[in-house]
Amino acid sequence: MVKDPGIEKLLNGFSKFVKKREIPLTQKEKRIKNRYTITGDIISYSICPRQYGFYKFLGYAPSNPTQEWYGSIIHRFLKRAHMSFLRTGRVVNDEEIERIFYLIEKSMEAEGIRATNERVKRRALEVLNKFCLIEGESFFRSVIEAELRLIKELDNFILYGIIDVLRTEGEKVEIWDYKGMERPDETNFYGREKLNRYKKQMYVYGFLFKERTGTFPDKAVLYFMNELLKGNLEKTRFIIDFRKEEIQNEVENFIEEFKRIVEEIEESQKTNNWRLPENIDKNTCKQCDFRGDCPKFLSFKKEQVI
Ligand code: SF4
Repeated sequence: MVKDPGIEKLLNGFSKFVKKREIPLTQKEKRIKNRYTITGDIISYSICPRQYGFYKFLGYAPSNPTQEWYGSIIHRFLKRAHMSFLRTGRVVNDEEIERIFYLIEKSMEAEGIRATNERVKRRALEVLNKFCLIEGESFFRSVIEAELRLIKELDNFILYGIIDVLRTEGEKVEIWDYKGMERPDETNFYGREKLNRYKKQMYVYGFLFKERTGTFPDKAVLYFMNELLKGNLEKTRFIIDFRKEEIQNEVENFIEEFKRIVEEIEESQKTNNWRLPENIDKNTCKQCDFRGDCPKFLSFKKEQVI
C-alpha cells in the first residue's frame, strides 16, 4: 500500500494514462506498416532492384514521364467512356471519343505527362476507337465496377491493388486489366518472363478479390490493346482460369513469394544496397536513367565490342 499521497496521486495518474492508451506501457509500439502494390513495387523490383530502389527511395524522378503516357491515357479514357455509358446507355461515338481523348490529354499535359510525338497520340486514339467499336455495348454493359480498389492488411505490410474492370460474362465474374501494348512474344525468354509477371499481377488481384468476397473471380483477362491495331482479335485476351485448382495453388505460392520480396525490399532499404538483376532485357536497360554507371549495362556494351 502506498502511504505517500504525492506518490499515490502520481500512480493514479499513471494508471489512468495507461488505461487511456489501452495497451500496457511495456508493449512495443505497433509498427506502421508499409503499403506495397504488385505493379509499383513487386514487379518493378523483380525487373531491376537497383532501378526500383533509385526511383523509389533515393528520390530520383523518372526523366521520361512519356513512358507512362500511353498506358495512362488508355486507362483514363476507358473509365470516362464507361461513365458516359452509365449516363447515356450507349457507347461513345467517334466525335465523343475524340472530345474525351483531347480533354484527358490536356489534363495530363497539365500534370507534366506528355506523349513523345503525334504518331503516339494518333496510335492511342486509334486503339481506343477500335476498342469501343469491337468490344462495344456488350462490354460496357457488363461492367460492374471500373477501378476497383482492394486492400488487405497482412502480418508485416499492407497489400494494395486496383483492378481495371470487374465485369460479368453470363454467370461468370471476370477481372480485367488493360495493357497498352502488344501481347508479349512467348517464343522468347523475355517475352515469357513479361507475360509471367502480368499473370502474377492477376494472381494478386484474384487473391485480393477472394479476401474481400470469399471466393475467387472465375477468370482474369489481360487485354492487350495494341493487338487491335493489327486486327489480331484472338491475341487481345490472355485468360487465367481461377476455377482451376492448380491456378489457386499458384496464387497461394505467389503470395508467399510476394512476402519474401517485400522482406528483401525492406532489407535493401535498411542497408541502402540495391542489387543488380541476374537477368535483364537489354532494351529495359537502354531506357534506364541509371545506365550511365551501371555495371550491368556496361557489361552489355563490352559484349557488343567483343
Ligand atoms: S541499366 Fe539496367 S541493370 Fe542497370 S539499373 Fe538500369 S535497368 Fe537496372
